[in-house]
Amino acid sequence: MIPYGRQDISPADIDAVVAVLRSDFLTQGPKVPEFEALLAEYCGARHALAVNSATSALHIACLSLGVGPGDVVWTSPITFVASANCALYCGARVDFVDIDPLTCNMSPAALERKLEAAQAQGQALPKVVIVVHMAGQSCAMQEIGALARRYGFAVIEDASHAIGARYRGAPVGGCQYADITVFSFHPVKIITTAEGGAVTTNRVELAERMALLRSHGVTRDPGLMTQAGPDEPWVYEQIELGYNYRMTELQAALGCSQMSRLDDFVARRHALYARYQTLLGDLPLILPLQPPEVYSSLHLCLVQLDDTVHISRAAVYAALREQGIGVNVHYIPVHTQPYFRALGFSAGQFPAAENYYARALSLPLFHQLSHAQQDQVVGALRAALS
Ligand SMILES: *Cc1c(COP(=O)(O)O)cnc(C)c1O
Repeated sequence: MIPYGRQDISPADIDAVVAVLRSDFLTQGPKVPEFEALLAEYCGARHALAVNSATSALHIACLSLGVGPGDVVWTSPITFVASANCALYCGARVDFVDIDPLTCNMSPAALERKLEAAQAQGQALPKVVIVVHMAGQSCAMQEIGALARRYGFAVIEDASHAIGARYRGAPVGGCQYADITVFSFHPVKIITTAEGGAVTTNRVELAERMALLRSHGVTRDPGLMTQAGPDEPWVYEQIELGYNYRMTELQAALGCSQMSRLDDFVARRHALYARYQTLLGDLPLILPLQPPEVYSSLHLCLVQLDDTVHISRAAVYAALREQGIGVNVHYIPVHTQPYFRALGFSAGQFPAAENYYARALSLPLFHQLSHAQQDQVVGALRAALS
């Protein structure tokens, strides 16, 4: 089976992990800060913190922004469930904003309409809006940032797909239009630490709060402690309810090594994607619009069957799987998941997302995908659609 995504691990990546195994620290050593420094520098952000998953990163990002019971968080229905669950972990409610069908990202126009309607009807405005850079392509951050200032909400960029991407010339993660950016290093993403994630921010108070939340809410900083006397150098204090969301040294060493390959990974994805665009050009498929101000990291090759296709998406999916092509679907709209229906959501609420989902397929796209494999994917797709 040709998978839809796969990690690329080099001999140097392996050596970096093995070196940690021979060292003094398997956790809480020098590699995590080194990885964080690389992330901050690459993204142009003041602070980066590595954690054990993007899901944990989303959780502490929401907590640091004060999300709690009585608050509401808005996100896109076309995302992995973690982008919505983080609000629920904090005891907040979640709601969704429909996508722009051309980019598959949250529509700034739909966001503006929903904000206006909420204000007109005296309903709660969102405390935080979590935008998702679908398939590695940045959302319209300038427009979303302007709405954030006007309506007073915070912005988290779920850039789980988008390390290595750029928006208006600047790296995603620089937080020019957002409070916090979140990355995932799961093996199908752009770079990997096996499991892992990170946050970036330019706001020191958020970075400090997230550092505490990542590690039990415990501090040894004399400036933060209230009870320790000067003759008690062993004292640490728990000053809030935190978690163990730490990344290990093994993971961080892999992350450092992968960071040195990030631009190559993204360039290779662009070359493969351009080849797909040429080979698929005459097929009845819609590929997402790539606005000129956006340089995608191309985490996924998303295609949608257009209106002239008279075979179901399920049939195309089955035909490709039959040929050993590991196509996938990203994503089932979150509001239609059973857990979210039980919260009161229903099909029909976000029509652009649902229409996209009904036609969507993700084709294999990863660093080591060969041209021969790509030809196989295109051949199987051509046969299924003819
Ligand atoms: C993968 C992913 C996550 C979760 O990442 P983990 O590191 O597996 O926790 C969150 N949001 C999006 C959009 C993702 O694709």
